[in-house]
Amino acid sequence: DSFDAMGLQENLLRGIYAYGFERPSAIQQRGIVPFCKGLDVIQQAQSGTGKTATFCSGILQQLDYDLVQCQALVLAPTRELAQQIEKVMRALGDYLGVKVHACVGGTSVREDQRILQAGVHTVVGTPGRVFDMLRRQSLRPDHIRMFVLDEADEMLSRGFKDQIYDIFQLLPGKIQVGVFSATMPPEALEITRKFMNKPVRILV
Ligand code: AMP
Repeated sequence: DSFDAMGLQENLLRGIYAYGFERPSAIQQRGIVPFCKGLDVIQQAQSGTGKTATFCSGILQQLDYDLVQCQALVLAPTRELAQQIEKVMRALGDYLGVKVHACVGGTSVREDQRILQAGVHTVVGTPGRVFDMLRRQSLRPDHIRMFVLDEADEMLSRGFKDQIYDIFQLLPGKIQVGVFSATMPPEALEITRKFMNKPVRILV
């Protein structure tokens, strides 16, 4: 039950410890390794369990830092949550030199475009702005190979289903998918059936 035993890169471990984490939470113990192996994972967990660091670590471990192109996309239901995930990603990935940007509504489209143009490794955002950036071709999907839906149930209950499906259509076909959700309503199960390949299920 230690972060050391997970086979993570040295510079990711440094980021995790510098952030103040000493031991993995239950969800981190069970979820980080399968995610790092590139497997599709469904994690049914409430917020407060450490899910953010689970998928951030899984993404940070797998990014190619020499390629300054978006390789991982995380969707969250609210601007605040997306910005909070951005902060965690940036902190944990500090020693890896990760470039992360949050694309959320209510901020300057031009500024998003400028930052994406300059180059990022990963994007976190709300479905509306992310779809907008994809549609404008400011966010290029070609190198995206990891896709995470955080608080999937909450995104669906906020009416983001069509936008999530639209985004899926624009992403490359073979892609790792992580779904994090406190509950699994039928619409969330439908997403897992349509877009996931033999997912590992983790219930915390
Ligand atoms: P989350 O479920 O991702 O929203 O995380 C809930 C809270 O737990 C956040 O304040 C995290 O910083 C904290 N946390 C997550 N993982 C750990 C850990 N392994 N050790 C200590 N605190 C943690």
